[in-house]
Amino acid sequence: MTSSDKHTAKGLSAEIRQGIGHLAKHILEKVLPVIDLESGGEVVRIDGIFVRREPGTQRPGTAAPSSKAKVSTEGYDKLASYKSQEPRLVMLGNFLQHMIQCTELQSEGKKVEIDGFRLKNLPFWVRYPQPRVLDNFGEICSWCSCSCEICFLKGTATEYTKKAMLSVVEARTRAKYFSTEKKLGLPVGHAQPGEPFLNPRIMDILRIARNAEPGLLLDITTNADFLTEKVIQELAGLKPVCIVVSINSANGPLRRKIMRSDHAEVAIKAIPLLREAGIQFVGSIVGPASVPVEDIAETARYLDRYSALQVRLLLPGFTRFHPKEVAFDTLPRWGDIVKTAQQLRQEFSTPIMIQPGFFWNQDISAVLDGIYRNSPAERAGLKFGDRIVEIDGQIIITKAEASDLLRVTPEERAQRGCFRRSLKVERGDEIFEVELRDDSAVEDDFYPYKPAGYGLCDRSFRGQYFGIHLIDGFRLESLKTIKESIDKHPGARKVLLFTTPLAKNLFAQAAMIVGRSPEFKLDSVELHVTLAEQRFWGGNIMIGDLHVVQDYIDHILMLEKGGYRPDLVLIPRSFVGEWGFDVLGGSYSEIERKTGVPVELLTNVRVMM
Ligand code: SF4
Repeated sequence: MTSSDKHTAKGLSAEIRQGIGHLAKHILEKVLPVIDLESGGEVVRIDGIFVRREPGTQRPGTAAPSSKAKVSTEGYDKLASYKSQEPRLVMLGNFLQHMIQCTELQSEGKKVEIDGFRLKNLPFWVRYPQPRVLDNFGEICSWCSCSCEICFLKGTATEYTKKAMLSVVEARTRAKYFSTEKKLGLPVGHAQPGEPFLNPRIMDILRIARNAEPGLLLDITTNADFLTEKVIQELAGLKPVCIVVSINSANGPLRRKIMRSDHAEVAIKAIPLLREAGIQFVGSIVGPASVPVEDIAETARYLDRYSALQVRLLLPGFTRFHPKEVAFDTLPRWGDIVKTAQQLRQEFSTPIMIQPGFFWNQDISAVLDGIYRNSPAERAGLKFGDRIVEIDGQIIITKAEASDLLRVTPEERAQRGCFRRSLKVERGDEIFEVELRDDSAVEDDFYPYKPAGYGLCDRSFRGQYFGIHLIDGFRLESLKTIKESIDKHPGARKVLLFTTPLAKNLFAQAAMIVGRSPEFKLDSVELHVTLAEQRFWGGNIMIGDLHVVQDYIDHILMLEKGGYRPDLVLIPRSFVGEWGFDVLGGSYSEIERKTGVPVELLTNVRVMM
């Protein structure tokens, strides 16, 4: 017998198998202080580990931390969804999957089949930033009742491995291990976003969230197909609530066609019912090329008629993975939607937001992007397009500065009193001053800005206070971060900075404003700002956060072929998670390895929208 015969895939020799078994047993003993093993969803205390004579056939299912998952061979796949946030969980699952095949485990003298694990010390794992307990729950349901023709899920090639239907037990555990003070929670698996009201326990889950964070605005995105009168009444009992309704069209037959919805009329009827119940709501409209812009306008008017807090127009996006028929000529279509929004702004006062915001607002300064109806800002006479030049005597240059100063401070929140800001505002050639006061009590009804029963929310809608909406802006400090990163590489002369088509102008404006001042000035450095092609996603995707590692590698190598080789590459880090993986699981360190050029990831630099 040759040595290769001895080690065929089907049967390793008995000695080698025993050796692997002993190794597995040894490592398993080391891992058990960190995890509890499960059998049939229950924790089992292991009091014996033996090396198997023959490899086991069991393929252990694994559960989300703390959940009593059903025994299933799909369990391990579920765990893979934690890769970007907490790869150590995937490693543990991998280890168990292989090791348990070499070992036999006993509990109270009896053999047990292990099908999952849970983390032993959950307080230790409360370390992941989450703005609110609902985010710490993850997806409430990860499939949808509709099938929109331009649904983002049809254009994705990433595997949303976790098909989640949140259980009440899991929600309770996640609420228990969420620090409302520090805003930290347990790791959340990456799951496909779906329709939350398909979860039969949605109301129990929302009640758990409400009890965990009394007074906090619960904002829930839904296609509203299940928002019947009864459901809306139940939601009213959980105020403050803000429902983001993906309405897309207020025309029943058209909505049914573009969303392939069986409950198109329920969602349309939900709008007046939300108003009647005093629940704040936002209406969102995606306008695929098959929907006439007149229908977009009609839907926006419908939302305005029932006092939506905001009308949100989402500029439709498609990738190369979408069916070919949904593709369209991007700039004319987006231009038509923006033109429609401009006309509607003359007609009614409900703020109209267009996303991505940088497509239509390319101004870094503190120009107001919207004023909420019945808000302190509206009462003070502020209008869309006004420019804030001073807040409480402080000169304002950017939107980001204005947002920071308008946000209620922790001290103000602790006092629970009246919030005030004095603003100097520019409108055309005129400069005037206004005083904003927000001192509304729980019972005051300023629908839709602050409906009765909403009190002082700990988190008003999207963090905006006084009723002023400012889209997320470019921060001048970003330029300081760029300088600090370059200073770490004293020899670097040719520096390549990645941005996106939408953010390029904003970056240029910021550089013009402060680029010459000593703390931002880049001495003896030749900064080359570039746009990486979205090769992986293709279509009309422009958002930098969706770039993948290979896009950057290709772009740097392409520049090199053309004769430009940088000494240093700067990339905003928002395209990777905490562990440095992109959406496809590629590590950013590959960029440096494949191109040979040092890479610095820039934290908190918004040049990627
Ligand atoms: S409602 Fe949203 S998640 Fe559901 S199919 Fe439409 S776009 Fe996709």
